[in-house]
Amino acid sequence: MDLTLRNARIAGREQDGNLDVGIENGRIAVIGADLPVEGFSRDLQGRLLAPGFVETHIHLDKSRILDRCRADSGDLSEAIAEVARAKQGFSPEDVHARGAATLERAILNGTTHMRTHLEVDPGIGLRGFEGIFPLVREYAWAIDLEICIFPQEGLLNNPGTDELMMQALGSGGRVVGAAPYTDSDPHGQIDRVFEMARHFDIDIDMHLDFGADASALDLDYVCEVTEKFRYGGRVAIGHVTKLSAADPARVALAAKRMADSGVALTVLPSTDLYLMGRGTDHSAMRGVTQAHKLLHAGVNCSLSTNNVLNPFTPFGDVSLIRMANLYANIAHVGARADVCECFEMISSRSARLLRLADYGVHEGAAADLVVLDASDRASAIAELAIPLMGFKRGRQTFERQPPTLLRP
Ligand SMILES: [Zn+2]
Repeated sequence: MDLTLRNARIAGREQDGNLDVGIENGRIAVIGADLPVEGFSRDLQGRLLAPGFVETHIHLDKSRILDRCRADSGDLSEAIAEVARAKQGFSPEDVHARGAATLERAILNGTTHMRTHLEVDPGIGLRGFEGIFPLVREYAWAIDLEICIFPQEGLLNNPGTDELMMQALGSGGRVVGAAPYTDSDPHGQIDRVFEMARHFDIDIDMHLDFGADASALDLDYVCEVTEKFRYGGRVAIGHVTKLSAADPARVALAAKRMADSGVALTVLPSTDLYLMGRGTDHSAMRGVTQAHKLLHAGVNCSLSTNNVLNPFTPFGDVSLIRMANLYANIAHVGARADVCECFEMISSRSARLLRLADYGVHEGAAADLVVLDASDRASAIAELAIPLMGFKRGRQTFERQPPTLLRP
């Protein structure tokens, strides 16, 4: 063995007690009790060993720009205007430096896979892409990064955007995204994005149904087109805050449509909380769709970070454990099984959304792992467990010491 992690409590197998995990050539070779001592080993002392966290929806390119933007009223129109203005000044070097800083925070918080949404349009051109794309190779030692190309400022209403998307998708963009609510023809944008996906044979991840009025949902149309092109399992939609304002019968109908057509959901608790509920001066709505209830209806869901330190969300430490804890608080998650699902929505369920092969803590899986200062998944979420070590393909990527009291 290249490395043996001893006395690990494995996420999902907590009831099996402490086990040893042997790693060879970047993969988990063997899991068992009291494996023979050979090669280098670390004693985890009963701490939780989980597969590395999976961020399915973040914006590296526009993270960390609070130094050049106002977030005074804090509403969506200010955020769009401020970021559109700031984007004019983005250079590839600037995007690269900010993206790297955000990526490093993610790695230090135990994330080993990430899909970053990246915008192209005639204003920014390909400068954002040129800043972020090199990070894929530069940080491959710690994280698998894939780029989803999307038109934040509209597609059909914004001439030149289509060509830039096609160019970025032909130059390393691995997924195509959308933001139909900023388009003059939302369904037209959805159609064109499906066309691009089929042209390149790539997956789709759309910003969708962002708002508080549940009377009309674009997700119905996305499910219809997904079925038409047999794209089930390859389509994700993010936000869908409108479902948080829908009555239970409408939610059940939407859940059945999504489950039947194979459309997954990503909930972005921090941004949704920050931007929703702005139209009232008291009892503001939360605007966070209850993903754990959709899971019960057979929809795959993930929880993710979205924006970091910009006018859309002027907060963020790029910690998925914190995001899952935030979600559990605001979505009234209490049942232990649902708290465990909050853990799965930043790990195995996110991995399924990204269609990752070889993911998990089992023999044959890639040794992409995080060690948490917790003994089980539910307490990791409840107590915001600290990530103590991370591994990418068996090589350790970070280390953090647990805090110690200095008694008199
Ligand atoms: Zn987003």
